[in-house]
Amino acid sequence: MEQRYARPTMPVPGALYLECEPCEDITLHEVVHGKVSGKRLELHLQCKECGTKSFQVRDEVKMSSVKVVISDGDRSRKTSLDIESDEVLMVGDELLVDGVPVQIRGIELGTDKRVDSALVAKIGTLWTVKFDKVVVKFSINVGPRTKAGSQIAAPDEEFTVGEMVEVAGVEAVIHRIKTWDRLMQRGSAEARDIRRIYGRAIRGPRR
Ligand SMILES: [Zn+2]
Repeated sequence: MEQRYARPTMPVPGALYLECEPCEDITLHEVVHGKVSGKRLELHLQCKECGTKSFQVRDEVKMSSVKVVISDGDRSRKTSLDIESDEVLMVGDELLVDGVPVQIRGIELGTDKRVDSALVAKIGTLWTVKFDKVVVKFSINVGPRTKAGSQIAAPDEEFTVGEMVEVAGVEAVIHRIKTWDRLMQRGSAEARDIRRIYGRAIRGPRR
């Protein structure tokens, strides 16, 4: 039987805002795998923006447990989230709570003071909404030009090479799908895995 230790252990966070080199920005990173090693956290991370995977060892991260209310349509539920105490959260930030993507809509300090941003350690309750839509980006060849556009899709919505789409007022056929790890010339991919879809206009822009 595995030995269990009585001493309290640092919780491993589900996601963290960290600097991402390819993105040149501070982005949400999912903790794909994390473990506590002594006073350190060993984290296998993946940037939610560009998909880049990285490994980091972080020293003694102080965590706070924050109350979270998640609204989903006309229902809402309460839960809690362990986040680094010295992190700053802002309205509009995305978080993963119990594996569910949510967006912060309100930050409450103490009992009823609402602010737009705050240090995690000072946050009483985070008011969030389930954020289960993703933006799928398109590049459509219209004659010699390329037109950019996007569609809002559910994360598990599939797009298929050969499928007809309407983007930015242009009817097009998908000829390639670039996912986070490959370029597909055939087959389907889920919206959450798609970096960009390439298409060819079959009719010009509407006049
Ligand atoms: Zn990134």
